[in-house]
Amino acid sequence: MSTVLSLQNIAKSYGPVRALAGVSFDVPEGSVFGILGPNGSGKTTLLGIVMDVLKANSGDFRWFGQPGTPEHRKKIGSLLETPNFYTYLSATDNLKITQSISGRGDAAEIESVLKKVNLFERRKYRFSSYSLGMKQRLAIAAALLGNPKVLVLDEPTNGLDPVGIAEIRQLIMDLSKQGHTIIMASHLLDEVEKVCTHVAILKTGNLLTTGHVDEVLSDEDTVELGAPDLQQLAAFLQHAGEQVTVDEKTGTLILTLPKGSSNLEDINRRCFENGIVLNHLLLKKKRLEAKFFELTNN
Ligand code: ATP
Repeated sequence: MSTVLSLQNIAKSYGPVRALAGVSFDVPEGSVFGILGPNGSGKTTLLGIVMDVLKANSGDFRWFGQPGTPEHRKKIGSLLETPNFYTYLSATDNLKITQSISGRGDAAEIESVLKKVNLFERRKYRFSSYSLGMKQRLAIAAALLGNPKVLVLDEPTNGLDPVGIAEIRQLIMDLSKQGHTIIMASHLLDEVEKVCTHVAILKTGNLLTTGHVDEVLSDEDTVELGAPDLQQLAAFLQHAGEQVTVDEKTGTLILTLPKGSSNLEDINRRCFENGIVLNHLLLKKKRLEAKFFELTNN
């Protein structure tokens, strides 16, 4: 798989505030790449740098293996800030204006980008009548003018309600299927976990980890167990030298094992032979949330 974007040691400070402390990672072609981190971790700064809105103090980045040229720029659509659309104009007219200012794409493409973001039926309505989710989809339509290979989105679901979030999530997955590589910053773990294939986790300007979501998550096995007497089960497993915690919320016991070492049959048999009948036994992938807190709390 070829690399769409490669960052080498990107550092950036705003006066005394170090926003990025030498960050390096690669974005593979065809990925939905999430840049994840708490507020102030440097996500927006990073996107600003790769989109040439900000200048790094040091380091280097390459799009498609080359230092940026206007030709490469045309392959990248971005949505870093909410664009200023005219409230009294329709989606079509707003995109005509965007298109004529940016010079990206042509008038014929406006209909096709509106179809892509599922606004074609509403294209003649005024922007002011749109929901926040529709406004955001129109902004993504504007970024899609010129049919860029890559889309760079900063917190694409910010401020949206659950329906709007689900719509944007679906749109991102559809765009990915159509062949666009998506790079998105988010502080919403759940969102990144649901749509992203790859992730880079930042904390105060440092890269904590990067890779395929499954790789980032799969450094240990988590097994969920349930039994009528949870305390008895916990005591038995602890006595056997296992690492267990009780999840009060779900009323289950969580057993953490080195990656690939869990054997559900064996666990079940051992419990049964010791008079414990399990009513729940499930191997879980470690959730991104748990991994994220583990990484960012250190
Ligand atoms: P958020 O999720 O809150 O948008 P972020 O991860 O995008 O955060 P950045 O906005 O890149 O993080 O900010 C990184 C650091 O740089 C923060 O400490 C922030 O306060 C600081 N910073 C960002 N922009 C500026 C600026 N223009 N002047 C001074 N400091 C800045």
